[in-house]
Amino acid sequence: MAWTDRQRAMLRAMGLSVWAPPGALDDVLPDAPSAVMPAASVPSPPASERPIVPIRPAPAMAAEPAVALEPLTGEVATLDWPALRAAVAACQACALCESRTQTVFGVGNPRAHWMIVGEAPGEQEDLRGEPFVGPAGQLLDAMLKALGLTRSEAPPEQQVFIANTLKCRPPRNRNPEPAELARCEPFLRRQLALVQPKVILAMGRFAVQSLLRSDDAIGRLRGRIHRYEGVPLIVTYHPAYLLRQPADKAKAWEDLCLAASLLER
Ligand code: URA
Repeated sequence: MAWTDRQRAMLRAMGLSVWAPPGALDDVLPDAPSAVMPAASVPSPPASERPIVPIRPAPAMAAEPAVALEPLTGEVATLDWPALRAAVAACQACALCESRTQTVFGVGNPRAHWMIVGEAPGEQEDLRGEPFVGPAGQLLDAMLKALGLTRSEAPPEQQVFIANTLKCRPPRNRNPEPAELARCEPFLRRQLALVQPKVILAMGRFAVQSLLRSDDAIGRLRGRIHRYEGVPLIVTYHPAYLLRQPADKAKAWEDLCLAASLLER
């Protein structure tokens, strides 16, 4: 695989040299490396022994001041995983229950080290009952794969958990409304409390609004370590945005590497 000048510059900026299995992500993620390894790790190992994450930690970076969230109260705060799943499936707290095919609880390892938070189910997610199964999901899967992560069956350090701020599809994929986000938020917060991830990746503005109570643009929030209930949280672009703005994939890759570096510390 030939690296573009831009990719090389980005990797140099991150202090990384590259090992890339042939063609791994060229189509879906042209601006991101398929795998990155520190210079000392060359020559490359066989794929089966490939490291899960970039090895070299990002420069030490202080976390942003934590946002004080009101404690989660009410019945949802006491539910275990099966009861939470059942409560989501039966939810009629807002009008989205009338138009949904089914709720979309989330997918992955309930003890995952990585928790990824998106926006809301779209048409395909509503039909399949799983988050991120459309084109944006394919891009997300490819980015995760580049870090040795997956939504499929794997140990907690490799299998992520993916959830959305809303568990039901907004009609015609319109933006979530504030009241819908507020009604659904206890489910996401309970998921986070039960999974106890080591790092959270908040993708897009609605995840950021829910978890950081911030309306700032993603471009202003990314590249820093935030905290949600003490857990490091990295802000990045939503994969659907990246499909429209592929030039920003390199920044999203940096965000993923920053998140990965936190687990290496
Ligand atoms: N976009 C999201 O934010 N979530 C999904 O599940 C699908 C697309």
